[in-house]
Amino acid sequence: MFKKWHLFTPGPVPVPSRVLLAGAKPTPHHRLPEFSSVLSEIRQDLQYLFQTKRPVFFFASSGTGAMEAAVANLFSPGEKVLVVRGGKFGERWGEIAETYGLVPVFLDVSWGKAVRPEEVEDRLAADPEIRGVLVQAHETSTGVKHPVRELAEIVRKRDVLLVVDAISALGVYPLPMDEWGIDVMVAGSQKSLALPPGLSFLALSERAWSQVERASLPRYYFDLRREWQAYQKETTAYTPAVSLLLSLREALQMIKEIGLERLFAHYALISEACREGVKALGLELLAEAPCEALTVIKLPQGIEGGKLTKLLRERYGVILAGGQGKLKGRVVRITHMGHQSPLEVVLALSALEVGLSELGYPVKMGTGVSRALEVIREKGKEVYA
Ligand SMILES: *Cc1c(COP(=O)(O)O)cnc(C)c1O
Repeated sequence: MFKKWHLFTPGPVPVPSRVLLAGAKPTPHHRLPEFSSVLSEIRQDLQYLFQTKRPVFFFASSGTGAMEAAVANLFSPGEKVLVVRGGKFGERWGEIAETYGLVPVFLDVSWGKAVRPEEVEDRLAADPEIRGVLVQAHETSTGVKHPVRELAEIVRKRDVLLVVDAISALGVYPLPMDEWGIDVMVAGSQKSLALPPGLSFLALSERAWSQVERASLPRYYFDLRREWQAYQKETTAYTPAVSLLLSLREALQMIKEIGLERLFAHYALISEACREGVKALGLELLAEAPCEALTVIKLPQGIEGGKLTKLLRERYGVILAGGQGKLKGRVVRITHMGHQSPLEVVLALSALEVGLSELGYPVKMGTGVSRALEVIREKGKEVYA
């Protein structure tokens, strides 16, 4: 009876049962009028989530598919893009750009730091051939929040597009696409949307859309011109992931019921409670500018990340994520995204405490948990009123 999994990984995340059940209905036919009305409802609600009046496209792919779609639809071979590389997902932007024959210019940021907007400005000023800036809103491998708003202000003055991977950020903190002037925003289903994996999303500003016609990179499934034609006819170019879309409709309904503002307040609170708890334990955060989607914790000397996550998973059913790339073994990541009630962060912290203690690290158990509870008691009254 005690075998229950608690997912604190940055994708997949816990999915509410009403969302899962919505997708368990008999598969509707995607070309029938009934499904067109489902599509219109979803498309409207996605505009609410993206805070945009522009169309939001989706694909049957993981988030990386929409990253690839962004690159393939916006640029031409040999064009330069500035890639903010401060973690695993920044590296991915570079790999996609290279694969498509672009010339990535790397702005390397040490893992755990956020990019400085002045540095982006200097790079753009020094090289007028750069056509786009590719960045993460939340660099999920390090838990850093990059300054998207400031970057949008910088690119707006130039003929440069800001392409934001918001796969772990959309719906977690405010990223008002139209208001801030973000040109392209990419998202995925299995992170903040609290859905199973398999859907990716992409929205483009008017400025970005004008590049879609001009871009000469090859594309087929991800061709937004074809997708836009279908969109106008209230359908999709190819067979969409219908069952996932039914789940998406339910998830978007839940988000509307809660309201974006409250959702943001929830993530701000539980991430703060987690960070405070971690610090109370005498541990350090990796990120200098931490995001609200997850908390990345540096492990003390002598504690191997893989051992800790294995112990917690096998003994207690708590699944924390380890480090990626060069952070493998050195950090542990607690995710706040998905279907988590306010006090679940305390469970994650208690796992961290007992795990570290069992591996011989001297923690006074309850210290982190107690601090997190104080934060929640102090601010939760308002957020969950
Ligand atoms: C998870 C993640 C991705 C990759 O998404 P997949 O769905 O695994 O393809 C890309 N960028 C960021 C910031 C992510 O968190």
